[in-house]
Amino acid sequence: MLIDTYGRTATDLRVSLTDRCNLRCTYCMPEEGLQWLAKPDLLTDDEIVRLIDVAARLLGIEEVRFTGGEPLLRPGLVGIVERVAALRPRPRMSLTTNGIGLRRTAAALKAAGLDRVNVSLDTLRPDVFKTLTRRDRHQDVLAGLAAASDAGLTPVKVNTVLMPGLNADEAPDLLAWAVEHAYELRFIEQMPLDAQHGWTRDGMVTAGDILASLRTRFDLTPQTPDDRGSAPAERWLVDGGPHKVGVIASVTRPFCGACDRTRLTADGQIRTCLFAREETDLRAALRGDATDEELAEMWRVAMWGKKAGAGLDDPTFVQPDRPMSAIGG
Ligand code: SAM
Ligand code: SF4
Repeated sequence: MLIDTYGRTATDLRVSLTDRCNLRCTYCMPEEGLQWLAKPDLLTDDEIVRLIDVAARLLGIEEVRFTGGEPLLRPGLVGIVERVAALRPRPRMSLTTNGIGLRRTAAALKAAGLDRVNVSLDTLRPDVFKTLTRRDRHQDVLAGLAAASDAGLTPVKVNTVLMPGLNADEAPDLLAWAVEHAYELRFIEQMPLDAQHGWTRDGMVTAGDILASLRTRFDLTPQTPDDRGSAPAERWLVDGGPHKVGVIASVTRPFCGACDRTRLTADGQIRTCLFAREETDLRAALRGDATDEELAEMWRVAMWGKKAGAGLDDPTFVQPDRPMSAIGG
């Protein structure tokens, strides 16, 4: 098991498949992109499947989420999903994607064994989408979402980050649209993980702002803490249910005490937290002929050192060197 000194057990593994992306969301990447990881530094498909097998068989990982960068840009994605689906024990598998290209791949991903997707979409307005992501691909995302639903990659969840002056006024419209399409909408507070280090607490839309805005049009009933478990999203029933809306308030209502995550970057580093400043190099061990049990032990030691919290409220907080796109959000 992956336990830490605060008694938490990690059962949810986030695997970043690439740091590259075809969008340039302002809260994530600079306009010109970033210096991408070099190909030889990336884990191969075989290495990724092996580490997921170690995690599922020896370390109690029950859920794997593929992310990035944009995971649909990874050429071997369908094959990786297929091979992970054949592992015993077989972890549940989901994908966090910007949705571009999902129209073409949703059915193949479902057939390969993917259970679910989270698609990121911040706005219903094509012009705002273009400003926010610096690319004119709104239609592609909507088509990807529809394809995911049709393929049965359900429940389809939609991740939304609100930005002041851009889409902050869209919360109720987005929820009405999500209810209509049976997508589960989750708002994520903007976190200090952008490569440009442009985040400010005053410049972000808080969970409080989001809920106040939603309540101008909807009746929201909070779910009990028991319903939440270790899920980062606090959820509310919309107009009595069954539809729900979530808010992931990593900044203003952090959920570190219930965190059940561990992370693997595309270049084979274990991270215990999005905001961690230390990493454990599994790639070097893997390429140095470590056994499965040795890899598992390195992972256990890394997680044992997991900090109590992300420390966003600590005056000494320093943003990690890796931006979100290279960690895997
Ligand atoms: N490219 C894929 C996507 O956009 O879904 C997967 C990777 S992306 C880093 C994962 C999630 O992180 C997205 O939902 C995105 O909106 C969110 N994200 C990126 N930068 C963020 C930030 N600074 N604060 C909060 N969420 C952020
Ligand atoms: Fe790409 Fe996702 Fe970052 Fe947007 S949030 S730039 S889609 S990695």
